[in-house]
Amino acid sequence: MLEDQPYQCPCCDFYSLPSRGGFEVCPVCYWEDDGQDMDRLDEESGPNHITLRAARMNFERIGASDASAVSLVASPGERAGLRREQRATYH
Ligand SMILES: [Zn+2]
Repeated sequence: MLEDQPYQCPCCDFYSLPSRGGFEVCPVCYWEDDGQDMDRLDEESGPNHITLRAARMNFERIGASDASAVSLVASPGERAGLRREQRATYH
């Protein structure tokens, strides 16, 4: 089971990242953290090849930041111990 990390993933909102902007891949949603956050939702992320807004919508819909990562992400059981503070994407 995954354990809380100090930083919140900009895509799935779980506390899953050991650092910010360190190009860590989130185990929960497979977003690669290039430092982008909610203030740049509509900017295309280089390593992820989509916008953060699209990745967040993917996570809500299919449980992964991108369709190609669906089989790679942590299962609900694996992520059950992780803290999540969900942020609103639409504002
Ligand atoms: Zn994530």
